[in-house]
Amino acid sequence: MSRIGFIGLGIMGSPMAANLARAGHFVVGHDHKQPAMDRLVAAGGPGGRGRAAPSIADAVADAEIIVTMLPDSPQVEEVFADIRTARLRSAGSPAGLYIDFSTIKPETARSVAAAGAEIGLRVLDAPVSGGEAGAIAGTLSIMVGGEEADFDAARPVFEAVGKTFALVGPNGAGQVVKAANQIVVGGTYALVAEAIVLMERSGVDARAGLDMLAGGLAGSRILELKRETMLAREFKPGFRIDLHHKDMGIAISAARDAGVALPMAGLVAQLIAAARAQGYGSLDHSALLKVIESLNGTGAFNGQI
Ligand code: NAD
Repeated sequence: MSRIGFIGLGIMGSPMAANLARAGHFVVGHDHKQPAMDRLVAAGGPGGRGRAAPSIADAVADAEIIVTMLPDSPQVEEVFADIRTARLRSAGSPAGLYIDFSTIKPETARSVAAAGAEIGLRVLDAPVSGGEAGAIAGTLSIMVGGEEADFDAARPVFEAVGKTFALVGPNGAGQVVKAANQIVVGGTYALVAEAIVLMERSGVDARAGLDMLAGGLAGSRILELKRETMLAREFKPGFRIDLHHKDMGIAISAARDAGVALPMAGLVAQLIAAARAQGYGSLDHSALLKVIESLNGTGAFNGQI
């Protein structure tokens, strides 16, 4: 069992920290927001396996493993700077492993890993998929970039928060795989939305149609899990358009760094940007359907002008 300093107790971080405490680790958490820290203390129970720290320095000072679950690259850079300062101040600090679960740019993951190595921190980028439900259930998928020995050392942490996890390459590789994941998820939502609009505006039973699609080669987890809510126009998040917009920015930037053209991803990024511009940023990413609908005007068209 390890002493873990956990920074970023939001939608994902909060249940992940609670699962680590439940697995027997001592978790000292810090977040900008007090209610987030209160949740960790409550989840830690009277035995106190979950504690709140007033600052990042306090959370990481005594930690053997440092964990972050933050919104985006700038926050990871900002928090890492504080971790670095805290670690340089306490020369005997035992912390050796730093796992960043946030979804950020591969380039930032690589630079944080290099900066970590300079102060004796072994860094893993470990973005997740599975959403809030997966974080609560401890069944996240985790794509990890870094050294094999560090991946092995981090196994107890991954086992407490995830179901499937794999080392996919050196630092930054986890973030590249997550970017690929977000391209496929965004593209699938856009195409399912187009399929719904085509069927509904053609006067076809879209529910029966999607059932057929789900059972054939076009089937996907998105069709399986989301077709009913999309047909009902229920867009409660889930995963917010705002976060997917951030992730498409990461994917496009990673493509630039790799020198490759991803035309479909570019189109999906623009549709997600449109969803945000139309005020749907806090809705679930399946709300891409609203953008496809708005491209097609309102009301039943049914082939008549
Ligand atoms: P969130 O906004 O709910 O949580 C982030 C937390 O970080 C907040 O509580 C915020 O107060 C805290 N924070 C930000 N800056 C800080 C700082 N400088 N110091 C201390 N605390 C700070 O976001 P989330 O939904 O938990 O997502 C976290 C990451 O996980 C993102 O990168 C997201 O893309 C990724 N992700 C989210 C989901 C999802 O379904 N929500 C799924 C997979 C991956």
